[in-house]
Amino acid sequence: MGIIGFMNEQNSDNLNKDNKKKDLGPPLKILLADDTAVNLALATKLLKRRGHEITAVENGLLAFEAFKEGSFDVVLMDIHMPVMDGLESTSKIREFEASETSRPPTTIIAMTANNEQSDHEIYLNSGMNGIITKPLEIKNVVSQIREIITNFSS
Ligand SMILES: [Mg+2]
Repeated sequence: MGIIGFMNEQNSDNLNKDNKKKDLGPPLKILLADDTAVNLALATKLLKRRGHEITAVENGLLAFEAFKEGSFDVVLMDIHMPVMDGLESTSKIREFEASETSRPPTTIIAMTANNEQSDHEIYLNSGMNGIITKPLEIKNVVSQIREIITNFSS
């Protein structure tokens, strides 16, 4: 698969109105990793329009490198990517954090079209903190992200 379905722009504008309240909160610094260019571009556009700051990369190695250089509220990580997949990238990030004692762990969220519960458990056991399933839902995605961040941080 690998295609994130998005509702069209007009629908998303109407939904924006309905969901402004849910989305209220500080802008998030988001590291977004997905190897499918159209997914990356659409998710970046969607999240930027809602005021979030996006660093977009196309594989897990670039995600790990960007993570070390930057400071993020959340990482949105595709699972299947060339060069380095989402699970290995997550594991590298967790190792890096463990060596940086001053740095609290960052929320990492899997983005996947895979609905298999057993696979979700593997992701969670690999250091990810939550799962957002593709196709991303415009009306829910920001509140889903905030909820997972809150649950992980509390
Ligand atoms: Mg992929």
